[in-house]
This record gives sequence, C-alpha cells and structure tokens, in this order.
Amino acid sequence: MKKVLITGANKGIGLETAKQLLQKEFYVYLGSRDLNKGKEAIEKLKQEGLINVEVIQLDVTDENSVRAAREEIDKKTDSLDILINNAGINGGSPYTALESSSDQFMAAFNTNVFGVARVTKAFIDLLQKSPEPRIVNVSTSVGSLSLQSNPSWPAYDFAKYAVYGASKAALNMYTIQLAYELRETNFKVNAVCPGYTSTDFTFQNGGDVEVAGSRIVKYALIDKDGPTGKFFSEETNPETGEIPW
Ligand code: NAP
Repeated sequence: MKKVLITGANKGIGLETAKQLLQKEFYVYLGSRDLNKGKEAIEKLKQEGLINVEVIQLDVTDENSVRAAREEIDKKTDSLDILINNAGINGGSPYTALESSSDQFMAAFNTNVFGVARVTKAFIDLLQKSPEPRIVNVSTSVGSLSLQSNPSWPAYDFAKYAVYGASKAALNMYTIQLAYELRETNFKVNAVCPGYTSTDFTFQNGGDVEVAGSRIVKYALIDKDGPTGKFFSEETNPETGEIPW
C-alpha cells in the first residue's frame, strides 16, 4: 500500500485530498497541528469506511513538532510515496502591501514557505525510498508573478493579497529549486493551485472542495513520464492546466 503524508489535513482541501487518496487505496498520515482536530477528522473518515489513516501531530512552523512527527512516522514506516505540503494561512487582514504588518508577513512566510521547506527536508529521505516519489506544494494562481503583474488577467484588480501572494510566490520559487535539485531522480515536484474553493480559508466562498481535492490528487499521482518543476492551475488554464510562474 502506497503511503502519503498531507500537512494541514484536518479540514478543508487537505482533508478532502486525504479522503480521495484513501478511496484510491493509499495509506494516509493525516497531519494536523491540533491532535484533537486530527482525531475528529479521522473519525469522520472512518465513519465513511475509510480506515487506512492515522493522525500525526504536525505544526509546520515548529521544528520540534516536525522532528517529533518524523520520529512518530519512523515507528510506522520506512518509506513515503507522496508528500502534500498543503498547510497554509491567508495572512489575515489588512491585505495590501502598505497596510499589512511585518508580523503578518512573518507568520505567512513561516507557514507557507519555511514550513514547506522544514517538512520537505525532514521527510525527504523517506520519500527517496519510494520508487516514484511525488511532492505537491499547494500554491495559488495569485502567487504567479507573471499573472499578477498582467493588467489583463481577470484577477489583476481584485487579488490584492500582498502577504499571501508574496508568500506563495516564494513557495513557487522553492518548488522550482527543489525540482531542480531532484531533477536527476524519479521525483516529480510541482506547485498546484486547487482553485478558489469554499473552505474556512475563504469564509466558505468559492467552488467545491471535491474539485479542489481532485486537482491536488491528479498531480500527486502523475506517472513517471509526467511533468516536474511546473505550476498548475486547472481553474486558470482548463486546457493544459499549466500556468506561468
Ligand atoms: P483551511 O480550510 O483553512 O485549511 C488550512 C489547513 O492548514 C488547516 O488544517 C490548518 O489547521 C492548517 N494549518 C495552518 N497553519 C498550520 C501550521 N502551522 N501547521 C500545520 N497546519 C497548519 O484552508 P484550505 O482552503 O483548505 O487551504 C489549504 C491550502 O490550499 C492552503 O495552502 C491554501 O493556501 C491553498 N489554497 C486555497 C484556496 C482556496 O480558495 N481555499 C485557493 C488556492 C490555494 P487548523 O485547523 O489547525 O487551523
């Protein structure tokens, strides 16, 4: 049975991704910074007959938590096939470049960028034991420098999320660098935007979480001839999915 670790999987897109991968016969390590919230999520999955799942306490901003999560997973497995770096925060309000505080920037970068680097580094050797390891970094089209700087892009005028956008742009560059470092291996490393989705993150505005989850799953399951070092948003480009960085 292939194994996947998903960060921030106690709710929202992470939980839905866990559910869909369980339905595809994966074993899921469900990362949750709050153990009780993770247990509640697992109970819901188990009620649906999805039993190959266990919670791992994992706060991506906390080195000790990441180390403890690794030690916990070491007791259970010596390999991982997929890492989905899903945990993320929107940076809160105010949103704009001039109004946002440095504390907002630091918090968003700590979760959305440094958290991904922390978790990836902590688990990379377990992924290296998989014959076809995959890493999906959950990003957003509003983190695309090319799109966000284009006045004719539909979201140009309303996507003024300086903190969030900057942190996801940095995550995108981390993804490029990681894919480059792993280019001579069997890894596939991509950044994927799930699309505007109804979760707590968006105050329940946006599209269906099932669609968002399926977009993440698609790139978590790409085969050996699939892309690496790319950025995908099926919402922005329904034809090929690929969008510019
Ligand atoms: P959500 O419902 O708010 O879920 C976010 C998840 O991240 C929660 O499980 C949360 O845990 C967890 N999290 C936050 N900080 C964490 C930390 N320090 N350590 C570990 N987990 C942490 O949001 P969502 O919409 O599912 O978002 C998931 C991902 O999709 C994010 O990376 C987001 O940027 C991205 N995304 C979302 C949308 C959208 O429209 N929803 C669009 C594009 C991209 P708690 O429950 O403990 O807070």
